[in-house]
Amino acid sequence: MSQLPDPIREGLARGWKVFGGPHAALPASLSCDVAIIGSGAGAGITAELLTKAGLEVVLIEEGPLRSSTDFKQRESDAYPSLYQESAARKTADKAINILQGRCVGGSTTVNWTSSFRTPSSTLSHWQQRFGLAELTDDAMSPWFAAAERRLNIGPWLTPPNENNDLLRRGAAKLGIPAAAIHRNVKGCWNLGSCGMGCPTNAKQSMLVTTIPAALDQGANLITQTQAREFELSGGKVAALRCTPVKIDGTPASDSVTRIVAKHYVVAGGAINSPALLKRSNAPDPHGRLGTRTFLHPVVISAATFDQNVEAWNGAPQTIYSDHFLGTQTIDGPIGYKLEAPPMHPVIFASTLTGFGQRQAELLRSFPQMHSLLALLRDGFHEESPGGTVTLRSDGTPMLDYPLTDFVMEGARRAFLSMAEIQFAAGARTVSPVHEMATSYTTWAEARDAIRALPMKPYVTRVVSAHVMGGCGLAGSERLGVVRPDGQHWQLNNVSVHDGSLFPTSIGANPQLSIYGLVNKLATGLVKRLNGRDVTLA
Ligand SMILES: Cc1cc2nc3c(=O)[nH]c(=O)nc-3n(C[C@H](O)[C@H](O)[C@H](O)COP(=O)(O)OP(=O)(O)OC[C@H]3O[C@@H](n4cnc5c(N)ncnc54)[C@H](O)[C@@H]3O)c2cc1C
Ligand code: SF4
Repeated sequence: MSQLPDPIREGLARGWKVFGGPHAALPASLSCDVAIIGSGAGAGITAELLTKAGLEVVLIEEGPLRSSTDFKQRESDAYPSLYQESAARKTADKAINILQGRCVGGSTTVNWTSSFRTPSSTLSHWQQRFGLAELTDDAMSPWFAAAERRLNIGPWLTPPNENNDLLRRGAAKLGIPAAAIHRNVKGCWNLGSCGMGCPTNAKQSMLVTTIPAALDQGANLITQTQAREFELSGGKVAALRCTPVKIDGTPASDSVTRIVAKHYVVAGGAINSPALLKRSNAPDPHGRLGTRTFLHPVVISAATFDQNVEAWNGAPQTIYSDHFLGTQTIDGPIGYKLEAPPMHPVIFASTLTGFGQRQAELLRSFPQMHSLLALLRDGFHEESPGGTVTLRSDGTPMLDYPLTDFVMEGARRAFLSMAEIQFAAGARTVSPVHEMATSYTTWAEARDAIRALPMKPYVTRVVSAHVMGGCGLAGSERLGVVRPDGQHWQLNNVSVHDGSLFPTSIGANPQLSIYGLVNKLATGLVKRLNGRDVTLA
C-alpha cells in the first residue's frame, strides 16, 4: 500500500498551509473571509466553493490529518484516531452507540460510501411541515447532480459480496424489491475497509477531493484544534476561540487561537454543531437549538450460513431494500430501510449480545456470519421527536435520545423482516441482536420468539452512524435554528452547513443529502459574500 500515491503527503510537500498537531505551530490569531468549523461532508463542499470564488478560508478541525499511508485496514488504529470518542460515543443513558468521524474529512473519511439522494417523500414532508417550499425534487436535482459529478457517485458495477448478495437473494425469494446502491468511489479495489479509511484513495471522501482542492486554492487548515466558542457582540459573532486538543480529543493546553472572520460556517456535524452554539450562548428564542436530533436508530439481525460469507471482505453496503419504508405513510408507524453492513472483528464482537460461551460460539462462526441492519426513519411522527443535545460541565456534548415505544415497535417489525429474509436466503440460524434472543433455526420459531421479545432499551442493541438535526432548517424562526438559505436565524454572520440542518432524519444514508443541500447553500453564500457565481462541477 505504501507504494500508492498519497495526495495528502504530496500536498503537504507542495506547501499546503496546515497548522496544529505535528504541523506548523498554531498562531495566536488569524483573520480571514470565512472560518469553517469542521472538515467533513458539509465543510468540504463549502471550502471548495468558497476558495473557488477567491475567498480566504480557514478550516478548523479537531481531529488529526491522516491519509492513505496511515490507513492499514486495522480497527485498533482507526477507531481511536479517526472517530469521535474512539468510536464509543453513547447517548446520555448509554442505550445507543454512535459512530461519527473525528479527523480531516470528518465522517466521510470513515463512511461506507452508500450514496442516495434525499427521498422525495422526505422533501415533501419538509415543504409541508417546515416551510421549506424551495426544496422540491426539481429544485434540488441539479445540486445533487453536481455533487454526484464531483464525487464520482454512480452505480457500482462489481457483483456484490456474499453479505450483500444474501440480502438480494432472500428478498427476491419473498418478492421484496431490492436494488444496488450507488457509491462515491473511483477505481475501488473492493477491499471492504472503508470504515478504517480507504488505503487506496478510491473512496471520494472529502479527505481526497474537496479539502485538497481548497488547500490547493490557498485555504488554511488547522488540525487537532477545537472550536470552543464564539465571542458574540451586537447580534453577530466577533471572533471564534479555538484550543488545541490531543489525538483522543482531550485538551492539549490552555493556549487559545482567536480567529476573526467576516462569516463563520458551522459544520462540525450533528451533536457537535449545536454544542458549539450552546457553549457560545447563541440566541435561541424558541428553544430549538440541539432539539430534534435524529439517529436512524439501527437494529441488527445476525445469521449463520453453511457457506463462508466473510462479511468483512468486499465493498460494504451495495444492496438495499426500501420496501418497508413504503408499507405505510411517512408519518405513520415508523418505516425502515434494510442494508447489509460490513463486519470486522472488533465492531462485530462489541455489537454482539451475550458473553462467555455464547459469545465465543458466535465469534467462532464469524466467517459464516451474515448481518442485516434496519435504519429506522425517525422524526416524522410526534412520538419520534428525536433527541436533545445538552452540555456536560466541561462543555462536551451529550445527546439524550429516548427510545420510545413507537420507535421500538418499529424495531420489532424490523427484526421480523430481517429474520424472514435471512431464512429465505438459506440461513442455518438467525439471531436478532437482542440480549434475550437466542439463535433460532426456523422462521416460525424466530417469528414467535421475536413477537414475544421485550422491545426495551439496553436489552435491544441499538446503534447509529447517521447523526442528523439539532440546527434545523425552517421557513420560520419558530420552527428551526437556520433560515432556508443556511444562515442562522439570529446571528447574521453565521451559517450552518452540515447534517445538523435536517429537520427530520432522511430515510436514506445521509451523505449525498448533505453534499447536495450544502452545494446549494454554499453557492448562495458565495453570491452573498462576494457576488460571484461558482459551481462545484
Ligand atoms: C462508520 C460510518 C459509516 C457511514 N456510512 C455512510 C454511508 O455509507 N453513506 C452515507 O450516506 N453516510 C454514511 N455515514 C454518515 C455520513 O458520513 C455523515 O452523515 C456525514 O459525513 C456527516 O457530515 P457532516 O458534515 O454533518 O459531519 P462530519 O462529516 O461528521 O464532519 C464533522 C467534522 O467536524 C469536526 N468537528 C466537530 N466539532 C468540531 C469543533 N468544535 N471544532 C473543530 N472540529 C469539529 C469533526 O471532528 C468532524 O471531522 C457513515 C458514518 C459513519 C461514522
Ligand atoms: S472498498 Fe473501495 S473504497 Fe472501500 S476501502 Fe476498499 S478500495 Fe477503498
